[in-house]
Amino acid sequence: MQILKVENLRKIFDGEVILDDVSLEINKGEVIAVIGPSGSGKSTLLRCLTLLERVELGKISVAGDTMVETINGKPHYAPEETLRKIRLKLGMVFQNFNLFPHFSVLQNITEAPVHVAGMSYETAKANALELLEKVGLTDKAESYPYQLSGGQSQRVAIARAMAMKPEVLFFDEPTSALDPELTGEVLKVIRALAAEHMTMMVVTHEMAFARDVADRVIFMDNGRIIESGTPEAIFVHPANVRTQTFLQRYSDSV
Ligand code: ADP
Ligand code: MG
Repeated sequence: MQILKVENLRKIFDGEVILDDVSLEINKGEVIAVIGPSGSGKSTLLRCLTLLERVELGKISVAGDTMVETINGKPHYAPEETLRKIRLKLGMVFQNFNLFPHFSVLQNITEAPVHVAGMSYETAKANALELLEKVGLTDKAESYPYQLSGGQSQRVAIARAMAMKPEVLFFDEPTSALDPELTGEVLKVIRALAAEHMTMMVVTHEMAFARDVADRVIFMDNGRIIESGTPEAIFVHPANVRTQTFLQRYSDSV
């Protein structure tokens, strides 16, 4: 079943085309890895898909609801009520965690379920504790973000996103702000989610991880999807010379 359908997206910043004719689909339970050089538009794509940025052209549908479509060459976003419903289906984990610094770990995770989704505090707390157990941080429930390592912070951020029970979880380079020794603990959590068939789209420079975990890999360059396919197709038999050149830089890590 298709969860996300993206057709012919175009995003412009300051008169410059940043996303150019980007189309993709994500089925329920799929893990998509997005790779590509810095500045190729990976973050912008995730931000457009999660309503943090608006597109200039194209169509996006989430679980059958149209977020935006193009009519007479202009983007038409759904009414705010529909967008609110769509937003609840989309989770995002950022490179720099973006935890609320003045909230405890537990408050970070219960805030949106209670205040955005209208869940009772008791239910939200029970869910949060379950999620903390899943990410291996039961003992940090009462800690504050400044007391956590980067790896722990990112695991809290993942628990926080999961607390809203999203249909799709997006990750924007979830480990690139981490020291190498903390990367593994975060990737392990994402692998566990993949094993549970959580639908995810992960922008990453961890090529070995992408190869092992992704069902499909998308290579972006210069605002376009240059190539997409199975990890085997992209990493072992890349068809496009730009994909080949990009991957050569990572050949040691795959
Ligand atoms: P990536 O995540 O692949 O490194 P980005 O999506 O961050 O790439 O950026 C793609 C291009 O869009 C870059 O040229 C960047 O400078 C530009 N860009 C990103 N965000 C903005 C913005 N808010 N305003 C203007 N230009 C932006
Ligand atoms: Mg980026």
